[in-house]
Amino acid sequence: VKQEGGGMIASLSQSEHDKLSRSIQIEKRLLEALNHRDLHVMYLPQKDLESDKITAVEALVRWEDEVLGVISPEELIPIAEETGLINEIGTFILEKCCEQAAIWHSKGFPIKVSFNSSIREFRDKNMVKTIRKVLEKYDCPPEALQIEFTEKFALEAEAEKSIIQQMQTLQQDGVTFVLDDFGTGYASLRYLQLLPISQLKIDKSFISSLLQQEKLQQLVQGLIQFGHSLSLRVVAEGVESAEQFSLLKQIGCDALQGYYISRPISTREVENLLN
Ligand code: C2E
Ligand code: CA
Ligand code: CA
Ligand code: CA
Repeated sequence: VKQEGGGMIASLSQSEHDKLSRSIQIEKRLLEALNHRDLHVMYLPQKDLESDKITAVEALVRWEDEVLGVISPEELIPIAEETGLINEIGTFILEKCCEQAAIWHSKGFPIKVSFNSSIREFRDKNMVKTIRKVLEKYDCPPEALQIEFTEKFALEAEAEKSIIQQMQTLQQDGVTFVLDDFGTGYASLRYLQLLPISQLKIDKSFISSLLQQEKLQQLVQGLIQFGHSLSLRVVAEGVESAEQFSLLKQIGCDALQGYYISRPISTREVENLLN
């Protein structure tokens, strides 16, 4: 129970206090890491089921701090979103993606590279300008770049004209958008109509118990048909077994990603898979 007049810090429980001081520490170290460009990117391959080839990779941020050790994106991203450092992380990942996509294209691997974006990045009125500048800097074709955003992002974005406009402008440039974690919460038919989406990615929470539950199979099949009825490509994530892979292929998924296909890997390992 919080005591009256106890002040902000004094009214925190021990665990709230620990959490707060850890986020402050992470924020401090993160600032340092960004200055020294100490973050890394791993790439999660995505297999297209028609061609049976890797046609896309998803960039995932990785950070191992000297003092704090490995910080998972699950811990890092919310703190970065709260403090605004997400914009810095975003720009860093964007640079990496464009640089790498351009290299792969010039080597004859025309794969798409996607990155996860937070709504805060799109609240920056210069988002389009920034992306165009980075694409140009590395001579990266806009078609190689794909931007993933969550349903939560979509629900907020549908009320913000400037965000919709920025997304549409990027789409006209050739950049594509993926609705990530599809099915986890706020499915709104409104934003599906308002936002320029070309792909749905069914959340991994649906995939893990797919084989045990027939209801779940019907649900996922329904999500796939729903996506197809809107002419969207449908991808599933979190595929960990051969059984899941073949079932999802059978019920009409267009592409799959997950540990069964590959763990997140380095650029060199991606090239080995492409060769
Ligand atoms: P996400 O976009 O849904 O990314 C998929 C997560 O699932 C990744 O975890 C990936 O490593 C993991 N994963 C992939 N295949 C499998 C599988 O077969 N089984 C299981 N159990 N897990 C699998 P990760 O890298 O820890 O990322 C977690 C979340 O952090 C991401 O979820 C994404 O929302 C966010 N994130 C990661 N990198 C970035 C970034 O650069 N910027 C932003 N804004 N968010 C990021
Ligand atoms: Ca994602
Ligand atoms: Ca996801
Ligand atoms: Ca997720």
